[in-house]
Amino acid sequence: MKEHYRNLVELPGVSGHEKYIRQYMRKNLEILSEKVIQDKLGSIFGIVNENSTGPTVMMAGHMDEVGAMVTEITEKGFIKMIPIGGINPPVVLSQHMNVVLDDGSFCPGVVGAKPPHLLRDETTKQVSTFDDFLLDIGADSKDHAVSLGIKVGQQIVFHNNYTVTKDGKKIISKAWDDRFGSAMALDLLESIQKEELPCKFVAGANVQEEVGLRGAQTSSYMIKPDLFIAVDCSPCSDTFEETEVGGTLGKGFMIRFYDPRAIMHQGMKLFVESVAKKHSIPFQYYKSMGGTDAAQVQLSEDGVVVCTIGMPARYIHSTTSMIHLDDYEAVKKVILEMLKELDFNKINEIKSNV
Ligand SMILES: [Zn+2]
Repeated sequence: MKEHYRNLVELPGVSGHEKYIRQYMRKNLEILSEKVIQDKLGSIFGIVNENSTGPTVMMAGHMDEVGAMVTEITEKGFIKMIPIGGINPPVVLSQHMNVVLDDGSFCPGVVGAKPPHLLRDETTKQVSTFDDFLLDIGADSKDHAVSLGIKVGQQIVFHNNYTVTKDGKKIISKAWDDRFGSAMALDLLESIQKEELPCKFVAGANVQEEVGLRGAQTSSYMIKPDLFIAVDCSPCSDTFEETEVGGTLGKGFMIRFYDPRAIMHQGMKLFVESVAKKHSIPFQYYKSMGGTDAAQVQLSEDGVVVCTIGMPARYIHSTTSMIHLDDYEAVKKVILEMLKELDFNKINEIKSNV
């Protein structure tokens, strides 16, 4: 896997705080594409084959990750916070988290948990809602915390423990959702042969997906794609229960035939299946209970043909998550092969199968 993946998961960027991710994306998009475009909310894209007479194909990940923001500094110097994106509160207890200061440096801390010694009395409970969590940065008072650089509104990210498993095939890290898709945009731009592209290809990453697909609304207005591919991590349920459509690590990319905000376009489904079969790329069907940027883009202008190419990932929307390198290969390969076929004839054929 290219370095972009690790470089991007290590950076901090909860929704609305994507600056450091965008800087990385811009630096690399400037090298890999003919032109870089950015909308006013901060979503950023590179274009290749800009003068093509073919259709405009847009591909996006999203730059933001789940985390928190500083809402208050208590008199004793602890930090109260609000979650950003959907996080199951118990996973936050006792975790190392970093407040990102205005100069970009990290102020590390730990979310305080009561030891069992203090929980013997039945009336004392371990707190497990965000309202009750206190991030302890070791400040002795509110003034001390302020002098260390803490301010209301700063982002707070989970400390990362990037780990490759013993078999070398899986990687555990925070923010796979969706630095994976952001890095994939760079990876595709690096790998695509312009001569093979029958379309104009616009690849990059949106802001603010985790708080309601906001970035995709404005970026798709700017780009006006004929077809859109979202690349996003989808949660696997295979650790706890295995169903045919619940997502299994290592079984290939996911065809998201249903989620509550987007029923997969039938022509698109046939197209993705045919490309995967033709090139023997492993895939699995996936039913999601969440949405991706594809749901937003499909509703722009008079409608856009979209799909989500899902990357299986365990434990997302917690402090960390796990992906499989074989699935990475499948996601990359299917998109590269799809792009080679996407001329106007193919898009019209897809559209006619609605
Ligand atoms: Zn995501």
